[in-house]
Order: sequence, then C-alpha cells, then structure tokens
Amino acid sequence: MKRFENKVMLITGGISGIGKATAILAAREGASIMIADLRLNQQALDDILQEGAEAAFIACDVSKPEDMENAVAATVAQFGRLDVAINNAGIVDASPIHEKSIEEWQKVTGVNLNGVFYGMKYEIARMRRQDTGGAIVNVGSIMSQVGEIGIAAYTASKHGLVGMTKVAALENGTSNIRINTIGPGYIETPLLMDNASADSRAYMESKHAMKRLGKPEEIAKAILFLASDDASFCTGAYLPVDGGYLCQ
Ligand code: NDP
Repeated sequence: MKRFENKVMLITGGISGIGKATAILAAREGASIMIADLRLNQQALDDILQEGAEAAFIACDVSKPEDMENAVAATVAQFGRLDVAINNAGIVDASPIHEKSIEEWQKVTGVNLNGVFYGMKYEIARMRRQDTGGAIVNVGSIMSQVGEIGIAAYTASKHGLVGMTKVAALENGTSNIRINTIGPGYIETPLLMDNASADSRAYMESKHAMKRLGKPEEIAKAILFLASDDASFCTGAYLPVDGGYLCQ
C-alpha cells in the first residue's frame, strides 16, 4: 500500500520548486492532488500527472482569503475530501527595514503569513468535519529561527508560522489533525536561483555545515514524512531540514 493511497492533498505554490517536487513525490505515492498557484504551468502539471495519480490546478492567490476558501472548496468538490494540506506558497523581500516600502512589507507578509492563516482557517474547518482528521505542513524556513539582512518581512512571517503552528496544534490535538512546520535551508529553486550571482551562491553554500544548497526533493521527502502516518505523534513541531545551517 502506498503511503498516500486514497488521500487528497492540497499544495499551495505547487507548480514550482519545493511545492512541485512535493506534488511529484506525493503523486508517486498515490495521492490525488490539487495544485493552488497564481499561474498554471502546463508542463509542470503534466510532470505531476505523469506519475499516474489524479491532479488538478486551481488559480489561487493565497493572500486573498476568498481564493483560499475557494481552493479548499474546489479540492473537496473535485476529490471528495481533504486529507493533507501543504501551505507552501512564499515570496521574499529585499531591502533593509529603514528603506522598506509599506507595500513590500504588506505584500510579503500577506502571502507568507496571512496566506498560511487563511489556508489553515479553511483547511482545518474542513478537516474537523471528517472522522479521519488530517495533516497540515506549513513551509517555514531557517528564517523561522534566525535572521538575514534585507528580509525582515520574510523573517517575521516565517517566525510567525512557528507560533501559529503551535497554536493550531494545541487547538486540534484531540481532533486527529496534526500541524507542523518545516524549515528548509537554502534550496535550489527558482525563488532562490533566479537572481543569484556566483558570489551569492558561494555565500549561501558556506552557511551550511554541508557546504552545499539543498535540492527540492530533499525538502519534499521531509514534508511528506510530516504529512504521513509515519509522523503520527508529531504535532506543533518545527523540523529543520537545512544541511546544518542552524548549527552555528
Ligand atoms: P518557487 O518560487 O519555486 O515556488 C513558489 C510558488 O509559489 C511559485 O509557483 C509562485 O508563483 C507561487 N506563489 C507566489 N505567490 C503566490 C501567491 N500569492 N499565491 C499562490 N501562489 C503563489 O519557491 P520555492 O519552492 O523556493 O519556495 C516554496 C516555499 O519554500 C516558500 O514558502 C519559501 O519561503 C520556502 N523556502 C524556500 C527556500 C529556498 O531556498 N528556496 C528556503 C526556505 C524556505 P510565481 O512563480 O508565479 O510567483
């Protein structure tokens, strides 16, 4: 029996990077998957479908509560239930606090923090109506624990996820719904690599004990551990998967 056979999974930001890698591995393990993202990339959806599972796409801006409500409703309409939610969509800021525009702050926290709140609000409400409960994984970051120059909105959001995850775990501990946060180190995805110079790549590599960047699949495997019954006694946790970034 595959780990996610007969399970329905919603992945925000699932058309690229860590979300896409998670969708591909989950499809391989039998999940039916709804991808909620800003724009459809047909090739990415085909890559997921190629694994032989059911998958669908819904356009969704996680920073809009009505879009998140609609994404959960569309998942249930298409596949009948919601067993696993991966709140993964995220963006990054790039300016010191004293120069940061209000718009940049609101945009990044709107996606990375508010978006996860909206996600959990509708996902948990749905899961509480199911006898079988569910599992939620929020995608945090090493910046859930430490800081980095220029990304105050990102860092504040990712720290916030850890606290919100703890509260959600406490509120749902007896409802058979587990909620955890994962903390990736620097991972080779479009979010990170699109504008990275050779110097900044070398700097990022140097910050990890393993002196390399992670691959999306290395995060996907850990996300799916937390989402699966293998993690049946895990809730409210922050799990770093960071090549030793937080060791110093
Ligand atoms: P990618 O940019 O590769 O993928 C993120 C996806 O989310 C994209 O498809 C993006 O769309 C989508 N997205 C952006 N904004 C929204 C929105 N408002 N609503 C719905 N979807 C949206 O990034 P990663 O895979 O690297 O990042 C995934 C998560 O992992 C993020 O939460 C990030 O913070 C976290 N993370 C990443 C690390 C890294 O080094 N890469 C390190 C630690 C954490 P579009 O491309 O069209 O903008």
